[in-house]
Amino acid sequence: MRNNKAYYPGKHRALILKILIDYGYEETNLVFVDNIGEWALQNGIKSILRDLERLGGFMEIALTLCINKSNKKLRLFVFSNVAPPSSVRQILNNPVLTNQYLSDYLETERQFIAHRVLHEVAHAKKGYTEQEEQKCDEWALKEMKFV
Ligand SMILES: [Zn+2]
Repeated sequence: MRNNKAYYPGKHRALILKILIDYGYEETNLVFVDNIGEWALQNGIKSILRDLERLGGFMEIALTLCINKSNKKLRLFVFSNVAPPSSVRQILNNPVLTNQYLSDYLETERQFIAHRVLHEVAHAKKGYTEQEEQKCDEWALKEMKFV
């Protein structure tokens, strides 16, 4: 799968928010940043920095985490305004189901971004860990009703 296009989650704010609301979240759960690594550094979130290093930038597009705010746990979905071509390509090459790849299903930028949101919802709602990426991808595909 070749992909030389950047995608722009920051331009799909309405779509991302609509999906999150469908799953019971609100606007306060959604954050857009220019650089997830820098954002993590500024907010002292060490686990993200470690993961970014380990995954070689895989999470440059989106992630979810819980932070403590006013003594309450707040779920955050953090999206990068821009997803570089290398990150888009890396995700489209993810294996799903049997002998399939995400690129077999996600044809448009809009579909790609909707799938990314659902992938993060899978981490949050289903409790899948960062080692269960394929489960998240497959659940997200089913929620999009492609399969
Ligand atoms: Zn994931």
